[in-house]
Amino acid sequence: MPETETMSVPDVMKFLAEQNRQNQEALLAAIKELKKPSEFEQRKIDKENEVLRNKQMSRLTEAKAEVERKEMRMRNCPHAAAHPMGYTMHLWGGQAHTPANQPAYFVPTCGRCQTQLPKVYCTPEQLTQGINLYTYKNIGIEDLLKAAEHSGNVKEVKEFREIYNRKAA
Ligand SMILES: [Zn+2]
Repeated sequence: MPETETMSVPDVMKFLAEQNRQNQEALLAAIKELKKPSEFEQRKIDKENEVLRNKQMSRLTEAKAEVERKEMRMRNCPHAAAHPMGYTMHLWGGQAHTPANQPAYFVPTCGRCQTQLPKVYCTPEQLTQGINLYTYKNIGIEDLLKAAEHSGNVKEVKEFREIYNRKAA
């Protein structure tokens, strides 16, 4: 006996609603399956992620190596050079900075390794006539670090000493 003959109108409506619900479920499942990356796509994504990770790692390694090279240059530099006249000249220099509402200072910088020491306050004489560190014949890194400490940069000097005196790994 064909089913339709035994189905009332409400039964037909119910049957159609059920069919509709099943169709929708099947459609949703199909969409979900479509959104999932295929194995091939997943491999591509994994590969791209790996390339990205490797790039980040090599950038980090490169940055660390650059810092180490810089520190090595700084530790191995005498911060001085032989003068043709036979004596040794330190290579520290600096220029006066005059920020608003702050004491004028200079940053001692080695002309050879480019190492920068913590800030040192300018004397009134240095402010009017220039820093001219070369006129202080016998100063060395220790004198400049002490001057920086006297300028209130005790923490910066301590941090600098830690790096400067650290043995390269
Ligand atoms: Zn130097």
